[in-house]
Amino acid sequence: MFLEVGLPLPFTQSFYYAYTGEPLKQIQPGQRVLVPFRNQKLTAYVLRTHERLPKDFPKDAKLKQVLEVLDANPLISAVLFDLSCWVANYYFSSPGEVFKVCLPPKINPKIQQRFSLTSAGEHLLKRLKHTLESQHSKGQILELISQHAGLDHQRLQKLSNRKISTAEIRQLTSHNYLRIEHTPKLQVSTKSQWCVSLHPNYQKSLLSTKLTHKQKALIVRLEKNGGTTKLANLARLFLVSRLSLKRLEQNKILVLRQERVSRNPFEALDHSLDVSRPIRSRDQEKVLLSLKQALNSHRFSPILLHGITGSGKTEVYLNLIESVLQQKKTALVLMPEIGLTPRVAQVFRARLGEIVAILHSGLSLGERYDEWWRIKRGEARVVIGTRSAVFAPLENLGLIVVDEEHDPSYKQQDSPRYHGRDTALVLGKKNQAVVVLGSATPSVESFHHSQTGKYGYLHLPTRIRSRPLPEVHLVDMREDFKATGKRSPLSKSLRSAIDHRLKRREQVLIFLNRRGYSTYVLCRSCGQSIQCKYCSITLTFHKVQKALICHYCSYSRTIPQKCPHCSRAYLYFIGEGTEQMESLLQQTFPQARVARLDRDVIKRKGAHQEILNRFRHRTIDILTGTQMIAKGHDFPHVTLVGVVSADHALSFPDFRAAERTFQLLTQVSGRAGRGDLPGEVFIQSYCPQHYCFQFVTSHDYQGFYEKEIRFRRFMHYPPFTTLAIILVKGKNIDIAAETIGRFAKFLQKSPNSEIRILGPTQSPLAMIRSEYRFQVLVKAKSRSRLQALLQKALSNSQEEGLDLRHIHIDIDPVNVM
Ligand code: ADP
Ligand code: ZN
Repeated sequence: MFLEVGLPLPFTQSFYYAYTGEPLKQIQPGQRVLVPFRNQKLTAYVLRTHERLPKDFPKDAKLKQVLEVLDANPLISAVLFDLSCWVANYYFSSPGEVFKVCLPPKINPKIQQRFSLTSAGEHLLKRLKHTLESQHSKGQILELISQHAGLDHQRLQKLSNRKISTAEIRQLTSHNYLRIEHTPKLQVSTKSQWCVSLHPNYQKSLLSTKLTHKQKALIVRLEKNGGTTKLANLARLFLVSRLSLKRLEQNKILVLRQERVSRNPFEALDHSLDVSRPIRSRDQEKVLLSLKQALNSHRFSPILLHGITGSGKTEVYLNLIESVLQQKKTALVLMPEIGLTPRVAQVFRARLGEIVAILHSGLSLGERYDEWWRIKRGEARVVIGTRSAVFAPLENLGLIVVDEEHDPSYKQQDSPRYHGRDTALVLGKKNQAVVVLGSATPSVESFHHSQTGKYGYLHLPTRIRSRPLPEVHLVDMREDFKATGKRSPLSKSLRSAIDHRLKRREQVLIFLNRRGYSTYVLCRSCGQSIQCKYCSITLTFHKVQKALICHYCSYSRTIPQKCPHCSRAYLYFIGEGTEQMESLLQQTFPQARVARLDRDVIKRKGAHQEILNRFRHRTIDILTGTQMIAKGHDFPHVTLVGVVSADHALSFPDFRAAERTFQLLTQVSGRAGRGDLPGEVFIQSYCPQHYCFQFVTSHDYQGFYEKEIRFRRFMHYPPFTTLAIILVKGKNIDIAAETIGRFAKFLQKSPNSEIRILGPTQSPLAMIRSEYRFQVLVKAKSRSRLQALLQKALSNSQEEGLDLRHIHIDIDPVNVM
């Protein structure tokens, strides 16, 4: 019997192993097995079982044996198995890497080496001892291994107090003195705690036992507590000793046992949270009616929910989830970055209770492990999570919500390069579920699908309680310069608007999408800027850390006194970042309480939550920061939002630059005026004539879409084509350039009017982490043609000996630069 498996390595092909365990029909797709691969043992995932090998399998190939079946039942359900296969196939990823995402991190056993002596080794040790050579390095190793059973390399070094090379070990094994066993060890453990409860017959036992005062108090307490409590609580309250408890156990008064506990990833519930059910607006009712109809159809129904900022989408989701739960089905809610808006997850938890699980990368390993199992066991029936939660082990899925469906963070940037939203649609189809794509600024693709009838379309066109959308002003920074005669990142009009808000004790958000103090350092003498040693990118000056830092690879260096290129001292710091904005705001408004929120600030544990809480409780007046302040927040006292520079995002050489800018500006603007007071927004720009701004100021999504879709059609971009980027990375520029050149040839070999191939070219970011980057962009009218073409080019490449590990295929890329 044979198992065909996928390995959690970047290989798209599958591997065969011989298998001689229980009958094949007990082995199921998705089950984990331990297999030998090269010199290691790896966790692999069963793809298929075979009675005999495929006909084209090389006759002389030696098959290795499966070592162990790791799960009695597959942890990956049939639906998730299918979904993973689709992902692997569609995104050209390794199936093993996708299966890995289906399971909690670190669930695969870590393979440990364990040393033991062979009889030859024991002999040698005796001889060495005899000749007093056991002090020698070889003797010392053998001696330690004979004394400590199951030693591994690390502990061996520790005990011997020196570095022991693998060569030294290899020498001993090759002479057959030493045996190495590879044993799997679990990497995450479950957590359990001791519980104490009253014995069922404790009252009878009490009659025949004499108790101390403390013991009596303890029994009374237990009786009050319903008979059971955590041991830790008792020990703290009553200072009873373990021995005393043991005695009570022997006397059949108490029962002590260990119980498994789930680590709870939810922050302590915030009591200011309003969990009462609001009376739904008429729009919300209308939308819910249609959505519930879709639920009752029990058929796959993709629906775009286009609801402007503050229109109450969350309330719609909550109501819908309640209906799904009544149908005894489960629900999945995907969000771009829950870590950034922890309050939203809290609202779900507060409203729906313990059946809500949360999954995102900010949780500890133990928390993720436990949450995963709560879902798997069916205890959690609603999952709120980021991209990878699309692989959560929910059974009987009735509803998937993809909130902020336009957000680029749904696309994974490294292998497996899947799109969370698109994968959710496929999952919805497999489950005959309703898939709600929610956004105030739908992606051009999704909106297009809603117009052509591929998706349903529902609209929430007004804010809750008919609150107006904020008034958006565009500030022409060229005019500001003319009028004031100096270049300041805060225009006169934005300054006076802030001043106004401070006087009225209202709050202000100042958005700036660049971290650090200055975005680059330029030499006025030679014109060069200071670049990263490893990436083709300028370094950012961080004043707090007193360093120049690369935002791609984190390389950091001290601030030079002189230009590293021409050695003259004419260095000049350009482009303001959030750090500088924070101090500028503080200087300009000394009476205000100013804070900053960006990735640098939140490195300190708890800082993120703390700043948001302070802002919510209005002990911060002005909050400046990056995207982190732009998304999803609901602060009712914010009446002013300032966008320091909107031009940066527009200048990216990406066909989606205008769309991104429109979305970002609409989202940031949407943070203003969410409470009883109306809001105002100031957007500063040096090119205010760009069409994107006109539509932002008039809150005209439709207008923006119509302009944009014409470009897309004209330029052959999605949704009218499917894109793929083939990226080749490598430390050796010649090899990388040659690889992309040859791959491009394979693509061009089958000319096709439906497919355009652009490149190869150097990537706009030509080097990252010392790796040179080259790329080809493919635009195809048909997805299946594109798939076939890439498949063919890959197999050609393999036949011609190209190293496939250097070729990365990105289907439906979100960054096209
Ligand atoms: P969106 O996600 O669409 O921007 P939210 O779901 O955050 O909007 O809702 C905006 C605010 O309106 C929240 O504070 C929410 O609690 C409140 N809200 C939602 N629905 C209602 C309603 N029917 N009545 C009163 N307040 C509501
Ligand atoms: Zn770098």
